[in-house]
Amino acid sequence: MIKMLVCDFDGTINGGSSHGVNQLTDYLSTQDHVHFVIATGRTFPSISDGLTTENYPAPRCIISDIGTKMYHGHERLNDEAWQHHVQAKWSKSAIHHALRDVPFLGECHPPHQGDFKLTFEGKLDNHQYTAIAERLLAHAIEVDLTYSHDWFLDITPKGINKATAIHHLMEKHQLAAHEICVAGDSANDTAMLTIPGINAILVANHYPEVAHLSDHQHVYTSAASHAEGVLEGLKYWQDVSIKK
Ligand SMILES: [Mg+2]
Repeated sequence: MIKMLVCDFDGTINGGSSHGVNQLTDYLSTQDHVHFVIATGRTFPSISDGLTTENYPAPRCIISDIGTKMYHGHERLNDEAWQHHVQAKWSKSAIHHALRDVPFLGECHPPHQGDFKLTFEGKLDNHQYTAIAERLLAHAIEVDLTYSHDWFLDITPKGINKATAIHHLMEKHQLAAHEICVAGDSANDTAMLTIPGINAILVANHYPEVAHLSDHQHVYTSAASHAEGVLEGLKYWQDVSIKK
């Protein structure tokens, strides 16, 4: 049985029709056993604003900043254990120092920066991306780099992403991967869409950077876009889990 639906926000449940969002929200209101969770690259203030713009389902947990922050319940209580785990792997000042004179690095706009996430904006080619990775390595800085939408370069603590945040939730709620559905559309969703045993949904409007995931057996690529695609995928995986 599917007990948790984890959705990316931008381009996944956000960006399509209000009708699609309403359909998803209405359906989830009949599925009380399915915990709804948001997993986004946005910061917490930004996702909190975003969730007020449509009739989105109320999340029981928000994973923000690409997995580096986590908030539980309607009170949005910060997950202190997760924060300590992430914090131990992070030094923002060391990253800024290492990259201080890289000429092609884009701008760091304040609204996109998290406590444990740096986001640079601008187009990068493969050489430039590699040069940034090598520069960080030369300074013995262990981080993950994610380049998505051909514009955003996210730098996050090594091994911390939407997938590891979901693993933390799985332990907390004693859930197995086959009891979880995840939905996404771009590169920062790759880690969670490829968790072994998980039921993944790639919405029809996904970016080319993740199109290769359609070949995976556990990835359902929806015919519909955005929230409608999530609903289509959720029903597909619920059917599959009933037949097992
Ligand atoms: Mg997205």
